[in-house]
Amino acid sequence: SNSTIQTEVLVLGGGPGGYTAAFRAADLGLKVTLVERYPVLGGVCLNVGCIPSKALLHVALVIHEAEDFSAHGVSFAKPAIDLDKIRAWKQSVSQGLNQGLARLVKQRNITLVNGVGKFVSANSLQVTSADGEQTINFDKAIIAAGSHPTKIPVFPNDDPRLWDSTDALELQTIPEKLLIVGGGIIGLEMATVYHALGSKISVVELQDQIIPGCDKDIVTPLQRRIKKQYDNLWLETKVQAIEATDAGLKVSFEGKSAPESEVFDAVLVAVGRRPNGKLINAEAAGVFVDEAGFIPVDKQLRTNISHIHAIGDIVGNPMLAHKAAHEGKIAAEAISGLKVGFDALTIPGVAYTDPEVAWMGLTETQAKQQGIAYEKATFPWAASGRSLSMGRSEGLTKLITDKETGRILGAGIVGPSAGELIAEAVLALEMGADAEDLSLTIHPHPSLSETLAFAAEMIEGTITDLY
Ligand code: FAD
Repeated sequence: SNSTIQTEVLVLGGGPGGYTAAFRAADLGLKVTLVERYPVLGGVCLNVGCIPSKALLHVALVIHEAEDFSAHGVSFAKPAIDLDKIRAWKQSVSQGLNQGLARLVKQRNITLVNGVGKFVSANSLQVTSADGEQTINFDKAIIAAGSHPTKIPVFPNDDPRLWDSTDALELQTIPEKLLIVGGGIIGLEMATVYHALGSKISVVELQDQIIPGCDKDIVTPLQRRIKKQYDNLWLETKVQAIEATDAGLKVSFEGKSAPESEVFDAVLVAVGRRPNGKLINAEAAGVFVDEAGFIPVDKQLRTNISHIHAIGDIVGNPMLAHKAAHEGKIAAEAISGLKVGFDALTIPGVAYTDPEVAWMGLTETQAKQQGIAYEKATFPWAASGRSLSMGRSEGLTKLITDKETGRILGAGIVGPSAGELIAEAVLALEMGADAEDLSLTIHPHPSLSETLAFAAEMIEGTITDLY
């Protein structure tokens, strides 16, 4: 069949950027058409990203906490892993949210079109699906087509033992020996899951630390723990070649700590993601796409074509769901004529590993590089009653403030629940708070959140003796 739809706002892509933009535009009274190639909404985040990975990480946490507590008088039997059930549970978490999104689309009278969209002009998009072609003529558009995992062309990408993050989340088997290529957030989260399920893990990372971009001192407690748990952590090292053999994937390395070549049962390549800018025929609409596939935008998320906006992973780093959703709201509001712009002071980053690692605002490395006069305090969780009660003591809470004004510039937290705790620091930064504002705020005792107030007191000089 061939049909034509006329709409005020076209949204291309149903991920966290796209559905947020579509909902906001509809709430502001605009007629919205949302195009998504997959039968479910939610994009990478909900289907093969944030949510399924967090469901599996919770499984890992339960296993690890049970194991850890044998040292403190509670011993469980070795966990019996039912992969089919874990997989079904993970899927049910995503499915519940998929259904919720479908309901919200209906409630708002958003037209949902299933199929692959490509621009044919600055005011129309062609959608191809099994049912045929559809043309969507639009007044304004929001491109939210996301990103895909980076593939390394010389690797045997068709071999089922060579995984990307989507393959890893499928949880088909538990490889005896698993190599993770890339010590960033996604690689380390998947390492956490498979380690808990019984795989022997090796991680290889090009930089001299895992989670490059986060301060080294904040990453160190995680690095120490995984060094104990994993077979290998090879830093400043890269994979030179991967050869498919009957025995497994034979991997050779080069670099500072490069080992002899070794055979693995599976290899997860987690070396970043590429934007989908070159896959939507943007040139037909006159939209500029850079060499890497990103679509540059201004503060209203407008592309070079003023009635076409772009949001989320496709516009740049950091590729995070909360950034995509925030941009989606702003793009929709800008389209409906509201005076808005993207002016977030920071976008927090979290690795949901064990311990979790979270940071926001200025890192200490950046403060040094930029020659900013700063003060810092690092509160050790070994002095937190709450942390010790959990049988954990490796955490740290670091605050960075402006030396002159005391204003909070950045924070880094490592420890269980760091991903929840960082939100207070983000709010403090957005509100222009000083260290004093945090230290004078009564935090519940005993709680991990107190560590932020304690770090602030250290900066204030009102804590002298930690123990
Ligand atoms: P996407 O989610 O990629 O959505 C784009 C949508 O557009 C997709 O549904 C796609 O099918 C559709 N599409 C693309 N092209 C077309 C076309 N031509 N026609 C029709 N439809 C099209 N971020 C976090 O903030 N926290 C996390 O914990 C986290 N964990 C992650 C874990 C993993 C394993 C991965 C891979 C990513 C994770 N991310 C996380 C990143 C997060 O998933 C992305 O930043 C987020 O999904 C980006 O949203 P988006 O709307 O820009 O794009």
